[in-house]
Amino acid sequence: MSDSFDVIVIGGGPGGYPAAIRAAQNGLTVACIDAWRNRDGSPAFGGTCLNAGCIPSKALLESTELYHRARHEFAAHGLQVAGLAADLATMQQRKANIVRQSTQGILALFTAAGVTPLQGRGRLLAGRQVEFTGHDGAQRLLQARHVVLASGSAPTPLPGVPFDGARIVDSWGALEFSEVPRRLCVIGAGVIGLELGSVWRRLGAETVVLEALDQLLPMADGQAAKEAARHFKRLGLDIRLGAKVTAADAGADGVTLRYTDGNGEHSVGADRVVVAIGRRPYTEGLLGADTGVRLDARGCIEVDEHCHTTAAEVWAVGDCVRGPMLAHKAREEGVAVADRIAGRYAEVNYRTIPGVIYTAPEIAWVGQTEEQLRAAGRTLKTGSFPFAASGRARAMAAPAGFCKIIADAGSDEILGVHVIGPLAGELIAEAVLAMEYSASSEDLQRTIHAHPTLAEALHEAALAVDKRAIDALNR
Ligand code: FAD
Ligand code: AMP
Repeated sequence: MSDSFDVIVIGGGPGGYPAAIRAAQNGLTVACIDAWRNRDGSPAFGGTCLNAGCIPSKALLESTELYHRARHEFAAHGLQVAGLAADLATMQQRKANIVRQSTQGILALFTAAGVTPLQGRGRLLAGRQVEFTGHDGAQRLLQARHVVLASGSAPTPLPGVPFDGARIVDSWGALEFSEVPRRLCVIGAGVIGLELGSVWRRLGAETVVLEALDQLLPMADGQAAKEAARHFKRLGLDIRLGAKVTAADAGADGVTLRYTDGNGEHSVGADRVVVAIGRRPYTEGLLGADTGVRLDARGCIEVDEHCHTTAAEVWAVGDCVRGPMLAHKAREEGVAVADRIAGRYAEVNYRTIPGVIYTAPEIAWVGQTEEQLRAAGRTLKTGSFPFAASGRARAMAAPAGFCKIIADAGSDEILGVHVIGPLAGELIAEAVLAMEYSASSEDLQRTIHAHPTLAEALHEAALAVDKRAIDALNR
């Protein structure tokens, strides 16, 4: 095998593997090095997203949502379910099968595209040499014309609450429980904390979520966050805001967490604790001496708007660089870099990266919130439409939530779209496309939406921007 490649990608997650495939599609010789190993030691491409993030969490969210609906909502459809029980072992096996299928799929894609897969660690040296250490310890020195760093991120540890892999775990550990904890405590009410809290709450865990900030989901639209809080409460998630966790005492009886809030010091007991206070860029052992690649104060690999690092012909994408830690952001950066290396035009529109929280109801947004826009002094017009007024949502017995569109009062350009409700993560795609084309609310108003669909709610929200909604009162 040659030791020289046009492109070497270090990291095979959703940033790295699409970069490798696109580079090969562009006619370049490519190797993709990835260090991921599962708990049983088996290597797997796909990074955090496929092995311990997006995909396994969505598999468990789907199973537990079905269970929850069967228990609490099927009766309204006239469906009586006798003997319903959650079999966690089967649920976990289903999840593991989905993950395996997905990660093996990447190897098949590499073979088809002509990418050389290398499982082990990669280390960038000066002059775009890459030291590859296989899982067996064997080393090879490789040379690349271009190197793409896509080393991802790792969970942020909380001082005073050390991971022990059993009772105090990170998000990966929380996806692997083999028993439903009786008392669960999640630290951090971010996207990951709320999704994992929902999974285990639906299966019966008494779940407390401790969040240091006074506000729930500060990155989401204020109205959507308020609506979400109502539904989390109804599910039984005990979310305590302004609660900063400071320490954990592990005893025979479980873990006691100590936290402070506006009223002083408190403690709460749990059988399992999930620390979900965010993720930090992961670059351990990635950079040798004199590579010229610089890290910023937060530990992110420093890049310009084209994802080029401070070293010539070395690029970096995904969670290890600035910007939101999202799989689709990583992927678009990876593909764009592979096109740039091949001399093709590429651009990532950072203003239209959608965010989705896969709770029930789902929460999705693109662009800015009303709060952000008002703080920036923009004059706005907004339109909302409740799913309670959507025929399709009512037929689905999913009337919670709304679509909200924010447009510039003068030009009518859409500046933000916020959806909380059924399949919000799917509905937001239309809004992303609209904003990608700098659409006005009138453009959406004049776009035909099939009836009866959930997407009609977005159409009606666009009409509501000009107080012209048909199926709801225009207030
Ligand atoms: P990663 O996926 O972390 O991949 C990096 C890879 O590089 C890893 O395989 C790592 O082992 C490897 N690596 C690191 N250093 C080296 C080295 N020196 N040599 C070789 N290999 C190396 N995002 C969403 O968009 N939607 C979601 O629904 C979502 N859900 C999530 C749920 C959870 C529980 C978690 C934890 C994350 C979730 N995310 C979600 C975030 C998403 O997983 C990340 O944004 C995404 O994986 C980032 O991709 P990446 O390629 O930059 O890094
Ligand atoms: P995210 O960054 O979206 O993954 O969310 C992580 C959340 O954890 C943020 O909302 C933080 O405010 C919260 N957080 C961070 N440190 C603590 C802490 N010590 N106690 C409780 N919550 C915390």
